[in-house]
Amino acid sequence: MTFDPSRLRPATRLVHGGVQRTQHGETAEALFLTSGYVYDDAEQAEATFTGKLDHYQYSRFANPTLTMLEQRLCLIEGAEDCRTTATGMAAVNAALLSHLKAGDRVVAARALFGSCHWIVSTLLPKFGIETEFVDGTDLGQWTRALSRPANLVLLESPSNPMLEMADLPAISAMAHAAGAIVVVDNVFATPLLQQPLKLGADVVVYSCTKHMDGQGRVLGGAVLGSKKWIADVLQPFIRNTGPALSPFNAWVLLKGIETLALRVNAASAAAAAIADFLAEQPGVNRVWYPTRSDHPQRDLAARQMTAGGTVVTFEVAGGKDGAFRIMNGFRLIAISNNLGDSKSLVTHPATTTHMRIGEAERARLGIADGVLRLSIGLEDPEDIKDDLRRALA
Ligand SMILES: *Cc1c(COP(=O)(O)O)cnc(C)c1O
Repeated sequence: MTFDPSRLRPATRLVHGGVQRTQHGETAEALFLTSGYVYDDAEQAEATFTGKLDHYQYSRFANPTLTMLEQRLCLIEGAEDCRTTATGMAAVNAALLSHLKAGDRVVAARALFGSCHWIVSTLLPKFGIETEFVDGTDLGQWTRALSRPANLVLLESPSNPMLEMADLPAISAMAHAAGAIVVVDNVFATPLLQQPLKLGADVVVYSCTKHMDGQGRVLGGAVLGSKKWIADVLQPFIRNTGPALSPFNAWVLLKGIETLALRVNAASAAAAAIADFLAEQPGVNRVWYPTRSDHPQRDLAARQMTAGGTVVTFEVAGGKDGAFRIMNGFRLIAISNNLGDSKSLVTHPATTTHMRIGEAERARLGIADGVLRLSIGLEDPEDIKDDLRRALA
């Protein structure tokens, strides 16, 4: 049985996309836990290496279980091609280092995941790459920074943890005029709620560790873009530097993605309701959630995203002490720096994920000492509310 996968509706793509059955006709995706491949004869090996024959060579280059995952991700994202990596950070690093060279210039939104911020602020300058940070929400700053030639723009939208939105079509147009490609870290939105390639971006990166596994088991990453960019720029870098994803982790991710829509839609609906609930609680100063009427960029969020996502950020009274008291009062919500899990998780960014960027940078990003980031899981939302109510009391 064969069908044209591009004609499948989105929910079906999550389950059937990329499936390649072996001669045994297995129902579930096969796990090819193999590092190498054998050839029928020496001529076949030669033909494989000269590129005349399409044959797997070595799992650092490609592996059938990874191919299934990569094709499924292409179908979900509407991308031409994809390479998976061992972690989300390996995906970001590969996308940046494969494209850039000494003398190049990178413009990035300041509100980046901690390790992405480190790559831009610390690693790239070591190799003679000029980097500049802008406020991702301020088109004036993007205009100024991109009035000079640039090679790459990196941003996250919604951002971690303050859920700031970047105007992807406007920034992409300016970036292209300056000669830069646009790389979007789309972890918070997931490919279900926002598709940056359709909004003008050139490359999308994921930490598959988050919603795609979504059950706290494996690390993984993905880079998606045009066939040409992946073949000419990314693939040689991945092949020769080796950030390959384990076939076992790829298999876990394939099974996780089958339920991605069910999980993300449920958690996102619960997060929207919990954001409204939190806004009414005594002791809560402010709530950030992309689709709420008090979000400073709610119109942009409505244009770019189909729902607000699974993370709610809020500020409690009493600064760090107030935040710690509330975290320590939770019985159901667990303290963890992870997100996108089936279990609800709370993080105090100022003392964990955003501790290393320093007080001045936190102040610029609006990460006050009373700010908590709440990743909503798959529990009954009423139980999450009960836990919040009890801890806030
Ligand atoms: C978690 C995360 C990463 C890094 O992914 P890992 O799989 O942990 O390496 C990058 N960007 C964002 C926005 C993330 O949330």
